[in-house]
Amino acid sequence: MEIRAVLPRLQQIDHQLAGFLLKLQSIGQPCADLKDSLQEKSHELSEREHQLKKTQSEIKRLELEAASFADQIKTCEQRLYSGTAGARELSQLEQRLTELRRHEFDTEDEILDLMVRLETERTKYDLVAGAVAHFQEELAIAEHQEAEERCTLEKNIAELNNERQKAVAELGTEWEARYERLKVSGHGTAIASLVNGCCSVCRVSLPEDFVRRVSQGGEQLHHCEHCGRLLL
Ligand SMILES: [Zn+2]
Repeated sequence: MEIRAVLPRLQQIDHQLAGFLLKLQSIGQPCADLKDSLQEKSHELSEREHQLKKTQSEIKRLELEAASFADQIKTCEQRLYSGTAGARELSQLEQRLTELRRHEFDTEDEILDLMVRLETERTKYDLVAGAVAHFQEELAIAEHQEAEERCTLEKNIAELNNERQKAVAELGTEWEARYERLKVSGHGTAIASLVNGCCSVCRVSLPEDFVRRVSQGGEQLHHCEHCGRLLL
């Protein structure tokens, strides 16, 4: 009987199709994971860039401040050593000079601290920039692989759908409907076979005389007494 050949073939096609469709659903996962990692690192990179710029502009601001102190010191010294200042003014100038030199020293000290910090920040920035570049490369490779795999899968699915149509046409509508019902009740597996007197799917051992009848073949089709799948 043709049914005995067509039904297992149809089931094999359906199982392969289900596998391919499942694979198609999860095919984008590696790229999605890489995109998440890339987004996370890119966000970290922009935060680090922001911090770097902040430190750089703080250094620039302090350098301008130090230059201003240097100018004021110069002016003060010129006045101090001009020989035209009176005793009271001299004392004020000396006091002012001491203050300005302390400010200049403190500012330069602060600049040095910030420069050390800037170096650390730059090292961290470079590390994150390296990670971003790495994820970008990985993503490009993964996207290429995904596109290739998707293309192959879609081709396989189209071929299987063609085969399926032919198999279904051979079965006829009545058997097709029966197969679909059995597929639903059998959780995707409508057909089973006998293996050492047991149903190949539910593994339940079947009565000897039943097994004999199934094994004889013939027109009569039998269902597994336990799971209800068609035994072919
Ligand atoms: Zn069974």
